[in-house]
Amino acid sequence: MTRIERLARTLEDPLLVAGPPGVVSGQANVRYLCGLESTNAALLVEPDGRATLYADFRYAGRAREVEDVSFVETSRNLLSAVAELLVGRRIAFESAHLPYAGYKALSEAGVDAVPTVGLVERLRAVKNEGEIRAMRRAGALSDEMFGALVGEQFAGRTERQLAWWIEKSFREAGAVAVSFDTVVAAGETASSPHAVPGARIIEEGLLVTVDAGCVVDGYCSDCTRTFAVGELPARLTEIYALCLEAQLAGLAAVRPGVSGRDADAASRAPVDAVGLGWAYGHGLGHGVGIEIHEGPVLRPESTDVLEPGNVVTVEPGIYLPGEAGVRIEDLVLVTADGCERLTQFPKELITVS
Ligand code: ZN
Ligand code: ZN
Repeated sequence: MTRIERLARTLEDPLLVAGPPGVVSGQANVRYLCGLESTNAALLVEPDGRATLYADFRYAGRAREVEDVSFVETSRNLLSAVAELLVGRRIAFESAHLPYAGYKALSEAGVDAVPTVGLVERLRAVKNEGEIRAMRRAGALSDEMFGALVGEQFAGRTERQLAWWIEKSFREAGAVAVSFDTVVAAGETASSPHAVPGARIIEEGLLVTVDAGCVVDGYCSDCTRTFAVGELPARLTEIYALCLEAQLAGLAAVRPGVSGRDADAASRAPVDAVGLGWAYGHGLGHGVGIEIHEGPVLRPESTDVLEPGNVVTVEPGIYLPGEAGVRIEDLVLVTADGCERLTQFPKELITVS
């Protein structure tokens, strides 16, 4: 069954899959369903499985080649054009993706627009063989990159220089892109989970957090390791060991039937036990696929329940403001009875020079 057919089976009304114009990530659902990568397309999927693809001139050539859909070329003002074609119909839209201007274009043209949430995302959360193959390869490229990175000189270089080295390595190894802006954060910079690499020279005696990923065949990898630059104060070695304990507890908890909340709680327990719960301020992990953040989510308020085929991260972190940060992250595939790591690079504390 095609992805469009699987979506159609869940629909009551025709669903207009459409995101903000000009935004690649806003088109992730269109791309997932029919393979067209663009910044301005929409796909109407009818409950009986028929589908119509809309795109402007820039994407028309590739859109015409998409199988099992009818193609309609529109003006650059895609949502207004689509609205004119759907006048008088009841059409479901994705409330998380269609911008308000798009909703207004539909409703002012006389379309009965009904909001929905997460219909395509639910399908995307369970990966098939081909998707898993791409993510295994992306994970393997991460392992290769980290393997070479630990041989690089850290002390005396800037975070930005190392981030560029990482991005270059991924591209040279065959990745088409990095899956997000590479994080290289040394010392107190790493106490912000999404730190931006700076021009500061990395010194000895610090922890440095490296969070990086690449894209292979349209699918992302995501992996974090934290390294010691030279000799560390004992307290930082202890913090690292605690983070690793939390990560292993998280990995042990990831299996089908477990909720995102319970997996998160399992990893949090050892950190809470020593009174550092406050320093682990984000969730255990997130789904990964076409996008770097997708479903299911693993955090305290998550009601998502894991199932085989989910690909999620397991990434506890401990952040000490003004001092240091540690995060250890693996990308894992949920299997029939547990999980398989797609990122295999070692996790004992490695000292780099
Ligand atoms: Zn990451
Ligand atoms: Zn992540």
